[in-house]
Amino acid sequence: MAKSPEVKLAVFGRAGVGKSALVVRFLTRRFIWEYDPTLESTYRHQANVDDEVVTMEILDTAGQEDVQQKEGHMRWGDGFVIVYDITDRGSFEEVAPLRSLLEEVKKPKNVPLVLVGNKSDLDHARQVGTEEGERLAAEMACAFYECSACASEGGSVAEAFYELCREVRRR
Ligand code: GDP
Ligand code: MG
Repeated sequence: MAKSPEVKLAVFGRAGVGKSALVVRFLTRRFIWEYDPTLESTYRHQANVDDEVVTMEILDTAGQEDVQQKEGHMRWGDGFVIVYDITDRGSFEEVAPLRSLLEEVKKPKNVPLVLVGNKSDLDHARQVGTEEGERLAAEMACAFYECSACASEGGSVAEAFYELCREVRRR
């Protein structure tokens, strides 16, 4: 049997948007309330994506890196999750600059990417509309998911990672 393909995925976004919570939700189907926000971790995870076993290496960045560290992570990755928090407009405004940096680091390749608006359970505190997320994703030509790391099903969290794997494998 052929060796299962490996994809390197990096998760970007402002500190506090829920990157660690999303990664842990995806890997364990659990929600854990507090992580050290300065921590950067990598995880290995095997999953069946469209009848193919894929080994994912997931880098959960801290979100406080300087540009050089960011560029290093971007060179490392094959595919990227950019996360913002629907209750934090500033985190949404950081998406486009991250995307530009990615494009610059990866050029001339185009970059497998998914956009995630997290904390959809906090609708009462929402600052970024669903349509705004959709519009930005359309501009970036990538898939978009609104989700919550703490909602009990956590369905679209996994879907975002699987879709990114597909995107990487298509290239
Ligand atoms: P990171 O800095 O991007 O890794 O963010 P964390 O995963 O450490 O999460 C930052 C804070 O947001 C923590 O207090 C989490 O409990 C909280 N959090 C993360 N995801 C969600 C979510 O989907 N809903 C809610 N209500 N809180 C969340
Ligand atoms: Mg974190």
